[in-house]
Amino acid sequence: MSDTETKRAPTVGFVSLGCPKALVDSERILTRLRGEGYEISPTYEGADTVVVNTCGFLDSARDESLDAIGEALAKNGKVVVTGCLGAEADLIRKRFPQVSAITGAHRYDEVLDAVHQVAPPPPDPFRDLVPPQGVKLTPKHYAYLKISEGCDHRCSFCIIPQMRGDLASRPVGEVLREAEVLVENGVKELLVVSQDTSAYGLDTRYAPGVWRGREWKGSFEGLAQGLGELGAWVRLHYVYPYPHVDSVIPLMAEGKILPYLDIPFQHAAPSVLKAMKRPGNQAKTLERIAKWRSICPEIVLRSTFVVGFPGETEEDFQFLLDWLQEAQLDRVGAFAYENVEGAAARDLPDHVPEEVKQERRERFMAAAQKISRAKLLTKVGGTMEVLVDEVRRNGVAVARSKGDAPEIDGHVFVRPGTMLTAGDLVQVRVTRTEAYDLWAEPVDRALRKPAATLAPRGRMHRVISRI
Ligand code: SF4
Repeated sequence: MSDTETKRAPTVGFVSLGCPKALVDSERILTRLRGEGYEISPTYEGADTVVVNTCGFLDSARDESLDAIGEALAKNGKVVVTGCLGAEADLIRKRFPQVSAITGAHRYDEVLDAVHQVAPPPPDPFRDLVPPQGVKLTPKHYAYLKISEGCDHRCSFCIIPQMRGDLASRPVGEVLREAEVLVENGVKELLVVSQDTSAYGLDTRYAPGVWRGREWKGSFEGLAQGLGELGAWVRLHYVYPYPHVDSVIPLMAEGKILPYLDIPFQHAAPSVLKAMKRPGNQAKTLERIAKWRSICPEIVLRSTFVVGFPGETEEDFQFLLDWLQEAQLDRVGAFAYENVEGAAARDLPDHVPEEVKQERRERFMAAAQKISRAKLLTKVGGTMEVLVDEVRRNGVAVARSKGDAPEIDGHVFVRPGTMLTAGDLVQVRVTRTEAYDLWAEPVDRALRKPAATLAPRGRMHRVISRI
């Protein structure tokens, strides 16, 4: 056996932090590393180098990223930093002068170059080791589909445009082909992500692209139409409430894409929205929500809000609560405002005391929970299709309805679920409800086998888990 044959392939450890957009960056880097013949190490100790894909959105996320870099340096010593926090190379270098390289978000070539320096690639890349859909950090049955980078908005609490630049949409044909390959390789649910999904194509003037022998408009609607041809669950995230969003509601009513919209409204009070530098006519939004529901009654609306924004008065907060009551949003998350280094909102006057922010968040979530509970109660006794994410040892299948996105929304617990497996699409009858979750049983009697002890089928998003 020659020297080359006995040499082991170089190994890379990977820590992926942050939002689904960052997760897609991690997947792309890992795909290219595997394509070059690198092995991926599940431990720090077994790796020739470690890549840390950081998040820098909130101060708490920055702290987590800095901790992760410190941990990787302590346990491995050779660390390449990428991701949003990479935009602050000086800060990282000051704290960790020994890092091997620092690159910004989606700078795949630079990450690869840095890894090559620390752990040179094997002479003969094992390209056939890479599956056609690339390396995925999500379970086999769902995948994030990133359609653009950057954002043209300038919300005062956000530094993403500073870190990721202005909107840059991927060509529509390329996105549709990627989606098709994912579905051909077993993906049942596509989660469309970007910073501003509804702005898709604005920068390319909606340049058309060819897919399956025909032309598709490179717009939000054109993309949704194309994705609707794939026969998979298609879920739209991070949709900014532009008027043209109305155009995809009929596709939801036809069952082409999921009746689900994730719109981060952030607030409702006009003065707060103005300070946030976001569009301010939430009364009109209520009218549009009513119209969407008249076209597609089963539509599920998810949103996130920031409470305790600088200058938010008790009246503003009450306005938000009243708006929520009127809008009856199905899924809601709320964050207490946090300062972000470099964001304009940091310098606004009248910051809200921490205890008031927390108290408002609790009141807001209590109101949202009441709405969620009442809405879920109407489902009891009905049937629905669910997608199974995992089957637990106790025989309960953890699934999601069309109205539940992974990681952020509720679950449908299916019992007995012993006959089910991750990735199954199955009809269930809802038996009872909790505040955010449903319990159900399979409609098909043949699937109602009693619970038995099973091996856990977990999910792992980080190649190296940080506990
Ligand atoms: S739309 Fe989203 S990404 Fe763009 S600036 Fe506002 S919060 Fe940031």
